[in-house]
Amino acid sequence: MSTDCIFCKIVRGELSSYKVYEDDAVVAFLDINPISPGHTLVVPKRHVENILDADAETIARVFQAVQKVAKILIEKLGAKGVNVLHNAGREANQEIMHFHVHVIPRYSRDDLKFVDWWRSNIKKLDLAEIHRRITS
Ligand code: 5GP
Ligand code: ZN
Repeated sequence: MSTDCIFCKIVRGELSSYKVYEDDAVVAFLDINPISPGHTLVVPKRHVENILDADAETIARVFQAVQKVAKILIEKLGAKGVNVLHNAGREANQEIMHFHVHVIPRYSRDDLKFVDWWRSNIKKLDLAEIHRRITS
């Protein structure tokens, strides 16, 4: 628990949110600044920063809830699919330092251009060299 964390306050009910799903380990609520109708954040109730410092049980519970939320959004809102996104670390655009996974519903012909870095900055890189560094 972190006293001045916005998402901990939402978990404790001190800040209001539009809840989509809740169980003993996880809560999911609408993003206040949605990319698409039904854009939902799935967060563990216990404060951890992101997937890098979460334990395996927390990660499993969060992603089980991600699947449930995705199915709810597809059933209730008529979404045709979802993008699942997690930002880990400030360099990766994480702004709220409480583990959360974005579930972004996608609709027929929604014409949403998913985040501008995705395949927009393809560079010729030496894959063999990068693989050597990863596996050495
Ligand atoms: P990040 O960039 O950290 O992955 O995303 C944080 C997300 O939290 C953003 O999409 C932002 O709109 C959302 N957010 C920030 N503050 C609040 C809040 O007080 N309530 C809700 N529901 N969402 C928030
Ligand atoms: Zn927190």
